[in-house]
Amino acid sequence: MADVLEATTQAPVEAKAPQMTDGFHLVIDALKLNDIDTIFGLVGIPITDLARLAQAEGMRFIGFRHEQHAGNAAAIAGYMTQKPGICLTVSAPGFLNGLTALANATTNCFPMILISGSSEREIVDLQQGDYEEMDQLNAAKPYAKAAYRVLHAEDIGVGIARAIRAAVSGRPGGVYLDLPAKLLSQTMDALKGQQSLIKVVDAAPRQLPSPDSVKRALDVMKSAKRPLILLGKGAAYAQADAQIRELVEKSGIPYLPMSMAKGLLPDTHAQSASAARSFVLQEADCVMLIGARLNWLLAHGKGKTWGAAPKQFVQIDISPTEIDSNVAIAAPVIGDIGSCVSALVAGIDANFPKPSGEWTGAINERKNKNLEKMAATLAKNPSPMNFHSALRAIRDVLKTRPDINVVNEGANTLDYARSIIDMYEPRKRFDSGTWGIMGIGMGFSIGAAVTSGQQVVAIEGDSAFGFSGMELETICRYDLPVCTIVFNNNGVYRGTDVNPTGGKDVAPTVFVKNARYDKMIEAFGGIGFNATTPEELTHALQEAIKSGKPTLINAVIDEAAGTESGRLTNLNPQSAAMKK
Ligand code: ADP
Repeated sequence: MADVLEATTQAPVEAKAPQMTDGFHLVIDALKLNDIDTIFGLVGIPITDLARLAQAEGMRFIGFRHEQHAGNAAAIAGYMTQKPGICLTVSAPGFLNGLTALANATTNCFPMILISGSSEREIVDLQQGDYEEMDQLNAAKPYAKAAYRVLHAEDIGVGIARAIRAAVSGRPGGVYLDLPAKLLSQTMDALKGQQSLIKVVDAAPRQLPSPDSVKRALDVMKSAKRPLILLGKGAAYAQADAQIRELVEKSGIPYLPMSMAKGLLPDTHAQSASAARSFVLQEADCVMLIGARLNWLLAHGKGKTWGAAPKQFVQIDISPTEIDSNVAIAAPVIGDIGSCVSALVAGIDANFPKPSGEWTGAINERKNKNLEKMAATLAKNPSPMNFHSALRAIRDVLKTRPDINVVNEGANTLDYARSIIDMYEPRKRFDSGTWGIMGIGMGFSIGAAVTSGQQVVAIEGDSAFGFSGMELETICRYDLPVCTIVFNNNGVYRGTDVNPTGGKDVAPTVFVKNARYDKMIEAFGGIGFNATTPEELTHALQEAIKSGKPTLINAVIDEAAGTESGRLTNLNPQSAAMKK
């Protein structure tokens, strides 16, 4: 032993082994170099050490129970920050679980990167049957904005840089990055490795609108008798809050927020036409869409939702191919929302006509009528609670805490909460989004809590909650300030259906009666509440928020209260026999 030591100490300096790095470290270094500090994921072969090392190198690793929810957390983090959220998964099944969230991110224009470990190319391509063998890159392509694979350690810097740019530039979306197991353990000279990394400069460059498109849009708006501004979640994402407020207030035009744009201006703003939504969509003769698509959520810009009055559309969007996707757009303005809105504001001079008193008066009249009707519905106190009386209690508590993040999903729970719960600050409401999907609840809640460090209240239908309920353990493990309220009406839509055969199985829409979801969180050390009246719900929510702890309120709702598919009955073909 002494001989060996001596030999080592006597070795000439130039023979010293060069400092080496490997794929694991290069991935982490590349992310950190680009100011990415959090990974949402679930460990396993071959990425466990990547997660361990990321934590050891000072990154935050939030481990989930199912990859879909890690992906949803990453996506909402991306939406909140304009930095791509990172989701890390194992190969094949883990990748496929994460792919649902990636597809949802792309659909919603949320920037995220799904990084998955994968099996060896040689074996996958010859289909020789590897552990979790799958051609993940090709599987991801149709559902991602872009998809890349890195085979050599010296390309990791380029791979991460391309993924970041693809996720956040232009229309944001989901990007897939495939890292075969062999890449992670590849070694290379540490200095060369460091030099191969790229710090992305100006990842989402501003895109200025052309002056003629701005003039065209202003001319169209000037000719309007009954103008309307429609704010979508693209407007909230753009973080151009001050410019948007200026446009709305300087022009005096009434506006409608799409659900995730609620709070961009406070819902109590005098120009909000939310309470007269049907009326303004039907009656407006000119609609300026800002970061909103004319998809199914807006009845594709036609049909009875939009009434008989002929309309002209102005559309502000970063994606030129969005224009004319459903109806003719008279004045497209292509660019980033901050730049486009600033240019429009600059063009609103003293000659720009204010909307007529006739138009704003008619809207106010309709608003007041609807608000009175709603107030009467909310004032009722049925026993058991219905959606309205429960939401009134939640609304009144949340009014006192405008900083709270709200996550919302379900059928009836989503429909009612969207209109009853007011939002006061931008990017605080996260919901089922463009697909109208269920299952985002706990993923979005965790993503929002981790990203903001602030309280989250998740308003969940009992069915919707079921998709991600196991993540309560994750919430408790990281001690996150998330209060989940489960609207428990014993089933999907409601809990009253019966099996017409009288057989042993319950009807397809029915769950266990009188389940106690609050007991679930207690299993992991969180605090559970059971609320059967609005007063109990108010008290529970106040206590939950005060504690700043993981909490769950089982809100017992009348099992007959929900309607089939919430407000989407038109999308749900029902058999003639069932309708009777
Ligand atoms: P909503 O569901 O609220 O109506 P959508 O998701 O349908 O909103 O629309 C968002 C739109 O915003 C997309 O067409 C997207 O291209 C656009 N968008 C996203 N970010 C920006 C941005 N920074 N500047 C301009 N447009 C943007």
